[in-house]
Amino acid sequence: MVTEFHIGIDDTDSRLRGCTTYTAALLFQELVSKGLKPIDFPWLVRLNPNIPWKTRGNGALSLHLSLKEEQLNEVKKIVIAVVEKTTDLSQRATDPAVIFLRGQVPSSLGEFSVRALHDILSVREARNVADAVGAETHLLKGSRGLVGALASVGADFTRDHTFEIIAYRTPENIGTTRRVNHDSVRRMNAMFGGLTFNNVDPETGRVLICPHGPDPVLLGVRGEDPASVAKAFNQIEIDEPIERVMIFKTNQGTDAHLSCRRRIETLEPHQSAVITGRVSDAPRIFRGGHVIFRTSDETGLVYCAAYKATGPVREAALQLVPEDSVIVSGGIRSRPLGELTLNVEKLEVTGLVDVVRWENPLCSHCGARCESMGKGQGFRCKKCKTRLLRTSRVQTLEHRKISLGVYLPPPRANRHLTKPVSRNGIHRVTPFETSDANIDQTLESLVSISAGS
Ligand SMILES: [Zn+2]
Repeated sequence: MVTEFHIGIDDTDSRLRGCTTYTAALLFQELVSKGLKPIDFPWLVRLNPNIPWKTRGNGALSLHLSLKEEQLNEVKKIVIAVVEKTTDLSQRATDPAVIFLRGQVPSSLGEFSVRALHDILSVREARNVADAVGAETHLLKGSRGLVGALASVGADFTRDHTFEIIAYRTPENIGTTRRVNHDSVRRMNAMFGGLTFNNVDPETGRVLICPHGPDPVLLGVRGEDPASVAKAFNQIEIDEPIERVMIFKTNQGTDAHLSCRRRIETLEPHQSAVITGRVSDAPRIFRGGHVIFRTSDETGLVYCAAYKATGPVREAALQLVPEDSVIVSGGIRSRPLGELTLNVEKLEVTGLVDVVRWENPLCSHCGARCESMGKGQGFRCKKCKTRLLRTSRVQTLEHRKISLGVYLPPPRANRHLTKPVSRNGIHRVTPFETSDANIDQTLESLVSISAGS
């Protein structure tokens, strides 16, 4: 009897060491080496990025296998052992959780997962869902990781998805400068720009594929399909040993968190939200260069903040005027006085009003500009003193310095889930053919990448 078996893992990472993707990579390779059959690449599922207590972009991982009933216990043992081995439980912020689910993923878990992308879900809710779908849960410490572990298994990639190839460092190098040739990354970007994304920031030329700090990730290349990220990775010159390499299927770069349209009266702190409304007052620039304007819909009013780092978003926000129509997306924060602010991550301008300026008329006699004789009064020519009626003043349309369209932050300021400009219009709905043969093939190529360096 063969069954689907799903493993969800969250929160084995901590600020200083470890990384949940590493746990998943190790586990995937260990299970495959024992002859177990994956039905897909491991999934790296990013969840609501606006939850303040989550580090590193709120990622959860899941593995999906096809196995025989009699292999279940062995697999579970391996999973728990690997998670324990790779987790630093002494870290205060680490609350690893693992869930096991046998059989097909029920739709209720899918719905839970969608909500985990833009809402704040409680551990109690997670427990209820786990019970309802018959998932087995393992907590190594606290229970906060349950939400991510379940949400990862329930993720839906049918609307869009991407892939990331991640290379890991050997332990003795963790914490040292990454020896990656940045020029080779720029060359790779020139070759694979359309099939990969967020390699290099176009404005500054800065290489974006290497994280900073002491984590085990050497670099990660994001792109449209497994073969492209693997080929792109092979173009990069790396001058240090690679501990292992893994390809993940992911929702990164898909805007999956910006799928929930909300009315302003329903907003709550830490949600990710999309608001459709009108600008209700002139944008103002605050200390640090941030631009703040207010948007209203039929239910209320919310402050929208476009931070300096958001570049084109901030520039566009500055050009808005009252009554312009906008769709603003981003994370909800509460302000000291209890009002809510939406930190703008994406700004779509859907309607621009005409800005009318009244000008004094030109003199009908000599053509010189007239001056006003006072409030409510008519005009008088400065030169020949001819008088004109108040009604002779003229309307001119001010040139609007923005156009309709979507404004996004530069790649260097993108969050994991942000759909980059380069993916505009791309929705990868057709699943990558994950037959046994091509997963095996890709895995073989990964092994040769690791061995070759
Ligand atoms: Zn005149």
